Amino acid sequence: MMRIMKFGGTSVANAEAIGRAVAIIKEHFSAGEKIAVVVSAQSGVTDTIIRMADSLAMATNEEIIHPCIGGLEKQHLATLQEVAPDRYSEVAPVIQKRLQTLSNFLHAVFHLRELTPRSRDYISVFGERLSAPVIGAALMQAGVPSVVLDGCEAGIRTTAVHGDAIALPGSAPRIKHRVLPLMKDAVPVIMGFMGCTEEGIITTLGRSGSDYTASIIGNALSADEIWIWTDVDGIMTTDPRLVSTARVIPSISYSEVMELSYFGAKVMHSRSVEPAMQKNIPVWVKNTFNPAIPGTCITKGQQTGSRVVKAITYIDRVAAINITGASMIGRPGVAKTIFSGLAGAQVNVMMISQGSSEANISLIVEESQAQVAVLALRDLIDRCMVREVTANTDVCAVAVVGAGMAGALGTAGRTFTALGKAGINVMMISQGSSEVNISFVVSQKDGPEAVRILHDEFLLSEGSDE
Ligand code: ADP
Ligand code: ASP
Ligand code: MG
Repeated sequence: MMRIMKFGGTSVANAEAIGRAVAIIKEHFSAGEKIAVVVSAQSGVTDTIIRMADSLAMATNEEIIHPCIGGLEKQHLATLQEVAPDRYSEVAPVIQKRLQTLSNFLHAVFHLRELTPRSRDYISVFGERLSAPVIGAALMQAGVPSVVLDGCEAGIRTTAVHGDAIALPGSAPRIKHRVLPLMKDAVPVIMGFMGCTEEGIITTLGRSGSDYTASIIGNALSADEIWIWTDVDGIMTTDPRLVSTARVIPSISYSEVMELSYFGAKVMHSRSVEPAMQKNIPVWVKNTFNPAIPGTCITKGQQTGSRVVKAITYIDRVAAINITGASMIGRPGVAKTIFSGLAGAQVNVMMISQGSSEANISLIVEESQAQVAVLALRDLIDRCMVREVTANTDVCAVAVVGAGMAGALGTAGRTFTALGKAGINVMMISQGSSEVNISFVVSQKDGPEAVRILHDEFLLSEGSDE
């Protein structure tokens, strides 16, 4: 049995959590399983480092660096001391050296007043560079031989799209060549979230990218299973922070999880399903702090059961781009010009809706790309193809997800009737042809309420799926 186990930020946040992770790994390794581990940065560390780098590019002094580095040093060394006292003298200098390197880079950002996407990626992965040696040492301390690798050393080669890189197909044989031999008698501990280009330039796989790393490794090694260890009991009917009665979904399909994660369910990175799906590898989402619970199993099968809707999710950092103008009516090529303009500006379009009059096209993009999108479309006004392009950032997208919706009548009706009754105005609607989701846009203030109403409407707090 070969398993890839990924431990997220909260699962390695402190000595207690790492102790739990080590106990889980040891149990399976001792039982003769082949295990490769993927780890995140300790919870909050990536945020801290990125915030620091971003602010230094505009700062007037560099005094913030020293206390920040000092804080990271204290945190990681204290954890190391607790989880691996016997390895402290060997591993502490590794951590200190990495922090010195990070500090040098942060000073360089300040002096240059420049943070390119490439240097931002290089800096962002220090959270994993600090956590992985601590976890590797903790395993050794527990008698489990381990080898620590960064994403690049593990063989992950990616596109050069910094901040959102995608693994190249050529990674698989490399990963196999690098990682598989180590698994014969040890546990490789691989830093999540990172890879490198063919030229060896460090890239990141997008925030929360360690899930994606686990799936890439699982695919390359044709693992039997991928286990995502996190801080909730599995994939739930909605974010439990939003609806306290949210329930664990015992089994769900790859396509449903893709929709959920695409529309903001933070529990999985949106690209992480695909590599596992390619090889039909089951992915389990489990709770490090409650390991006895089976969690959620993600597979190909669409166990629709009696439920049409499985989960509700929402994403709030989006913007609606509205493109209007009577001159769009009946004019071929407007949509093509819009989409090629946006693609040229690297804007990712998340949702599309076009009024049947054709006088209006609305798009949903990430909030951070709103201005870029408007600028990219300005050209259409100049060419008299459209009259106006506006961006509204006061919106959020909600998605109702469930494979059982395909062919079932009435889900859209129920959704919008429930929202209408609650006085929530729906600004835009989109349904994919796969019918796995219905997504719509409401004003930002209505987002959480819309999720709660629909969670109630589809009785998601009640009963079980089995
Ligand atoms: P990790 O650090 O382990 O990767 P994350 O914080 O990235 O953990 O993801 C887990 C969190 O995702 C949960 O604590 C939960 O608040 C949030 N979440 C959002 N939507 C869902 C959902 N549908 N099911 C489970 N958790 C969700
Ligand atoms: N540490 C990275 C992040 O915070 C990757 C991850 O946790 O999956 O985004
Ligand atoms: Mg995560």
